[in-house]
Amino acid sequence: MITDNMNEILDELPEGVKLVGAAKTRTPDEILEGVEAGLKIIGENYVQEAERAFQAIGDRVKWHMIGHLQSNKAKKAVKIFDMIETVDSIKLAKAIDRACANIGKVMQVLIEINSGEEPQKAGVLPEDALSLVRDISELKNIKIMGLMTMGPFTGDPEDARPYFQKTKRLFEEMKEMNLPGVEMVYLSMGMSNSYKVALEEGANMVRIGTKIFGERQYD
Ligand SMILES: *Cc1c(COP(=O)(O)O)cnc(C)c1O
Repeated sequence: MITDNMNEILDELPEGVKLVGAAKTRTPDEILEGVEAGLKIIGENYVQEAERAFQAIGDRVKWHMIGHLQSNKAKKAVKIFDMIETVDSIKLAKAIDRACANIGKVMQVLIEINSGEEPQKAGVLPEDALSLVRDISELKNIKIMGLMTMGPFTGDPEDARPYFQKTKRLFEEMKEMNLPGVEMVYLSMGMSNSYKVALEEGANMVRIGTKIFGERQYD
């Protein structure tokens, strides 16, 4: 089933769009089936789950952190991940920067935008994003590579469209500014139910779980 799902998704994704397989709750065997069917990037929400999967699968794929990262987990996270998509504060960025300096790594990150401006959600508010990007771009062991957003979740992907548009506008504005040390390359938006809308609104990285691996038993 995972193989069929992967074939279907890979067939319809436009050229140049990166597929991140959102692997939360999946076993290393399930993830491996995805990898054998062509999945090249694994997205993990928790450092501990990522460690377990990484032990089984290793660096034949790229690993992206797509869940909220606590600063005190940065040291473990930087060993595994190739990209952290969820940087939303200078505190977290500094923790990643320090941990990377210790192991001689430069971490690619995306800035997570709270595009729905929902108080309970992670991400920096759109109006605060530029100053955060400027501050983080000073850090030597971090490279900002783009933006990520979740958008409000209602079950109807059309409801997410204005928030994808808002994030895309921010992405383009920052790209045009040519900020030193910043490369606006990736715009990570869209999940199983919303990635088609996200692609229409300019996403070039989508994070898909359910449509690859099936319904989750728990979250
Ligand atoms: C779980 C998750 C996804 C994928 O969700 P699906 O609806 O299963 O495709 C994408 N992004 C993040 C941050 C997630 O936690």
